[in-house]
Amino acid sequence: MNKKIVIANWKMHPQNYAEAEQLAFSAIETVKEQKNAKVILCPPFVWLTDLSHKYKNDVSFGAQDVFWEDRGAYTGEISPQMLSSSGVKYVIVGHSERRTLGETDEMINKKLKAALRNGLIPVLAVGEKDKGNGREEILSLQLKTDLDGVDSGNLIIAYEPVWAIGTGEAETPEHTVEAVGIIKKIAGDIPILYGGSVDSRNAGDFVSRPEIAGVLVGGASVDKGEFKKIIDIVSNA
Ligand code: PEP
Repeated sequence: MNKKIVIANWKMHPQNYAEAEQLAFSAIETVKEQKNAKVILCPPFVWLTDLSHKYKNDVSFGAQDVFWEDRGAYTGEISPQMLSSSGVKYVIVGHSERRTLGETDEMINKKLKAALRNGLIPVLAVGEKDKGNGREEILSLQLKTDLDGVDSGNLIIAYEPVWAIGTGEAETPEHTVEAVGIIKKIAGDIPILYGGSVDSRNAGDFVSRPEIAGVLVGGASVDKGEFKKIIDIVSNA
């Protein structure tokens, strides 16, 4: 049986390295005790490479974004090679908070290809903006462009309804299982995670479903106690 996956998206937290190291350290301590969950920490770039150099043998690391060119004059960007040469294995691509800032499906498609050609495993985030109808159409449209010409065999997808991110209102496991079915019809039989207001109260409801390969956790992943509980729950699901 594959381990269930827990991805910690720290977003733009914490504000100093000492706290970042404490957060990583707390997760690593839990991972040592709870071996049945695959935990991937995604700190901001400024902490990521240092933590990954120090702790990559203890826990997996991912970036929150990547640029689509391998090298060149691109001020402010981070190349996929920089990540892979720092021991980073995963990268979140197409997070809704980046889409809101102007990232298009075409840009996401280029980022997926760049990540894969440099040996990174992309975690593609997709999801509808508003609660209600039209989910199948929206997911299909996003995935069609995001995955155009992409070999999806080495990809993870996170189903993250935008209305559920950071709102405290998670999607139901039942609806998530339906979304997983829609995504798999297009992307194939790859791991599909759920993300959107996951915490220690609801994580178990998602990971107990065989169709859901794990959870992508935002806000709750920067709360040491809460994230420890989530790892415990996922590991024992
Ligand atoms: C996320 O960052 O992708 C996310 C799902 O955030 P939160 O868990 O805070 O909703």
